[in-house]
Amino acid sequence: MNQGAYDVVIVGAGIVGAACADEFARRGMRVAVADRDCVGSGATAAGMGHIVVMDDSDAQFALTRYSQRLWQELTPELPGDVEYEPRGTIWVAVDEEEMAEVSRKQDYYRKRGVPAEVLDSRRLKELEPNLRDGLAGGLLVPEDGVLYPPCAARFLIERAQSWGAELRLGAAVVQIGEGRVRLADGVEMTGEIIVNAAGACAPDLTPGIDVKKRKGHLVITERYSGFLRHQLVELGYLKSARSVRSDSVAFNVQPRRTGQVLIGSSRQYGVEHKDVDHDILARMLRRAQEYMPALGSMSAVRTWTGFRAATPDKLPLIGPWPGDKSVFLATGHEGLGITTSLATARLLVDQITGTKPAIPIEPYLPSRTAKEYAHA
Ligand SMILES: Cc1cc2nc3c(=O)[nH]c(=O)nc-3n(C[C@H](O)[C@H](O)[C@H](O)COP(=O)(O)OP(=O)(O)OC[C@H]3O[C@@H](n4cnc5c(N)ncnc54)[C@H](O)[C@@H]3O)c2cc1C
Repeated sequence: MNQGAYDVVIVGAGIVGAACADEFARRGMRVAVADRDCVGSGATAAGMGHIVVMDDSDAQFALTRYSQRLWQELTPELPGDVEYEPRGTIWVAVDEEEMAEVSRKQDYYRKRGVPAEVLDSRRLKELEPNLRDGLAGGLLVPEDGVLYPPCAARFLIERAQSWGAELRLGAAVVQIGEGRVRLADGVEMTGEIIVNAAGACAPDLTPGIDVKKRKGHLVITERYSGFLRHQLVELGYLKSARSVRSDSVAFNVQPRRTGQVLIGSSRQYGVEHKDVDHDILARMLRRAQEYMPALGSMSAVRTWTGFRAATPDKLPLIGPWPGDKSVFLATGHEGLGITTSLATARLLVDQITGTKPAIPIEPYLPSRTAKEYAHA
């Protein structure tokens, strides 16, 4: 049974699919979004919501900074439940070796117009009194922010709907390609363009894309108002995020508007089940207490896991899939998909409408990882 012809059918109503729906519908296209679950239920529900500029590569920097700007522009329109707050990040350095990294990072950011302030040990303690004594210092990046991802996804989907987009929830997609999206109940939707925004499940619908599940754990505490002011991340986080083999944990804590403290984070490959891994969790919490001993006396209210969609080069896949000319990918955002969702949507729509993008698109094109299709 064929139900509806659209300009664009988007699979996935996570933050990325929601941002794409908003952007396409805003440009007057006929858009449908299909998700087997509800809006923002995948990695988007599991994510921390740190809107952060990162400099692992120039391409990662360009995408995160561009998207952070788009979030800032959107701020006046965001409803209260999105809880957007420009808290700033402090990258925490334990010793002089990490202070050298602080200087390098500040220099990189300064040259590219991102404000960043080097903190010595005393200033770090003034800004975050609950950090342990004896840390070497840190780097404050004041324009980074935090938000509550599921409500951000819901806001974007509702805005897309206000521009005419259709939303189908509980609609499991079993096949995409050649301008068709087939649902598990046999219904078929047709679209000039099919966007695979199924997050870590994207390879189920587009076999051959190099996206792997990378599991993460988070813990949220009771309310401890004023305990934490900024998002704090250890500089070793970069090592943890870069590692492509071993399990890793890193100190990464976020203040929520409610006064709760969100504690992360872990990274694991090759684990498909959602269960909390108590060994990893214990390692993660021990790591957090090495930086903030008082976390050990707090009560946790919930622990959960989620799956990041990881690519080998740590960059997302944004653009046409060389294996099928109707299929476009918007996946592979690993631990940065909340941050980079808005830029992803812009870059995708720019490619389809022939608009000059604000940043070079080449580093994110799926053809870079699909050599066998590259000349198809
Ligand atoms: C522990 C953790 C912490 C994180 N912290 C941050 C952070 O601080 N900052 C940041 O920027 N990012 C963070 N991330 C990453 C971020 O959460 C993800 O990159 C982002 O949510 C990806 O969004 P998405 O829309 O691509 O995928 P998802 O949110 O997973 O959405 C995919 C959607 O597709 C649907 N779907 C899948 N298959 C099908 C199918 N066959 N048919 C129909 N529907 C389907 C799913 O139901 C789901 O709703 C974190 C991730 C984790 C796990």
